[in-house]
Amino acid sequence: MQKYIFITGGVVSSIGKGIAAASIGALLETRGVKIRLTKMDPYINVDPGTMSPFQHGEVFVTDDGAETDLDLGHYQRFTKAPINRSNSFTTGQIYDTVITKERRGDFLGGTVQVIPHITDQIKQNILIASEGADVSIVEIGGTVGDIESLPFLEAIRQFANDIGKGNALFIHVTLVPFIKAASELKTKPTQHSVKELRSLGIQPNFLICRAENPMSSDIKEKIALFCNLSKDHVFESIDVDNVYRMPIIYNQQGLDSAIVKCLGLETAEPVLDPWLSIISSLEKPKHKIRIGLIGKYTEVKDSYRSVFEALIHGGIPLSCHVEIISIDAEKITLDSQESYLKDLQGIVIPGGFGDRGIEGKINTISYAREHKIPILGLCLGMQLMTIEFARNVLGLKDATSQEFDSHTLHPIIHLMENQHAVKYKGGSMRLGQYACHLAQNTLAHTVYGKDIVWERHRHRYEFNNDYRDQFEKHGLKVSGESPDGHLVEIVEWKDHPFFLGCQFHPELKSRPTEPHPLFEYFIKSALQWSLRGESNS
Ligand code: GLN
Repeated sequence: MQKYIFITGGVVSSIGKGIAAASIGALLETRGVKIRLTKMDPYINVDPGTMSPFQHGEVFVTDDGAETDLDLGHYQRFTKAPINRSNSFTTGQIYDTVITKERRGDFLGGTVQVIPHITDQIKQNILIASEGADVSIVEIGGTVGDIESLPFLEAIRQFANDIGKGNALFIHVTLVPFIKAASELKTKPTQHSVKELRSLGIQPNFLICRAENPMSSDIKEKIALFCNLSKDHVFESIDVDNVYRMPIIYNQQGLDSAIVKCLGLETAEPVLDPWLSIISSLEKPKHKIRIGLIGKYTEVKDSYRSVFEALIHGGIPLSCHVEIISIDAEKITLDSQESYLKDLQGIVIPGGFGDRGIEGKINTISYAREHKIPILGLCLGMQLMTIEFARNVLGLKDATSQEFDSHTLHPIIHLMENQHAVKYKGGSMRLGQYACHLAQNTLAHTVYGKDIVWERHRHRYEFNNDYRDQFEKHGLKVSGESPDGHLVEIVEWKDHPFFLGCQFHPELKSRPTEPHPLFEYFIKSALQWSLRGESNS
């Protein structure tokens, strides 16, 4: 019998529900359990693809081209669970499906209602998302008490009832705030949140309490008493610097053994070595480097979450701590660039949309090219590398992308052929995994050690092949292209320790246990570059 774990959140959002879900998945995998992870989001957007990163953080893209919640990134980084578009759905998507069925006549004669039609559709989606798993972990976005999440909570209540209570587990992640004036951790918000959940017919089996300080035995006892569960089902999640510590922190409290016991699962003992070695590499590094991330959405760390994580992963095999300095691209002018960039050992220009901060990023690329600082361009970053090259090496002063100036004389980056007809913005970019052929004797080929790789895309614009010969003649090599040779996927410049841009998002495939080769090589180049700097000084 397939088992289910439903994870809800209480008190406030952003308390690490996604990391908790991912860590539980990781721990079950260490016991040989096949898992899947799904996020249900209660907002009306069909997917987060149309939302600003300032609002919602990054958009995580799956191999099959779904634009999903960033929690799917945590799921991918922490586990090997297969992830596809079924693993992220929203209220908007559920209503879209139900309304399409209604228009088709599937419910002829009936009144279509939240219960049972919306809740049935949610249950149906959960079943599809869970295919092939021994244990399916389903996270409900938002906070208990929100109007929007009610149909999801009702659906999971029914779902647990349908499959029999012993086959489903409810875990509620809440906040236990520390009140300075009283110098005390306060349990009242958790009590209220659980009360709310119970009023909807859900009794949580476990609580995970996010707290600044460790919770005493008394506090756990009090929470257990008021929330109607046993004390050894109250777990804590203390603030940590390194999220990859979480599986071990939960294991030390016995969370995974309590889960398997509660679900009646027979599993092997957990094999924790890979997690322990990640922790030791991250927490006792032999080296340290500083990488600048020159972006537009720098105030919101989650906007570049996968890039941050992939950079950190890149340092793990080298025992290298990667300090990431976020720099607002708009601040980088010809006058200020030296002060912002001179102490960096590597630079990343991440993906993005719109023209804000573009000139600052182009200034950065020139600086890195001339000063031979390792630089990695991701999607928009690659596009800007080619624009910078066109302006400063080929002498095409007004070179730009049609995204910023649709009438430019030198559209180095232009709209993809199939994008001209796009009327509805949602889900209409080049999305998902595509093959990329790597040219022999290039940095890209050395990095991957393969002829063909598969990488994930999310963009509307591409390199304009009219300029390809001119670029190659002047040394900017196309080292990766689509199998038909029409789309430029990777560019690189050889007279440089690491000057490489890719049209895809390698950060979406990196794991701490398997760093993405591009990030690993980039960090290696940055480390070598920094050591060379030291021996020269
Ligand atoms: N805005 C660019 C495009 O649409 C780049 C997108 C990105 O960086 N993901 O092509």
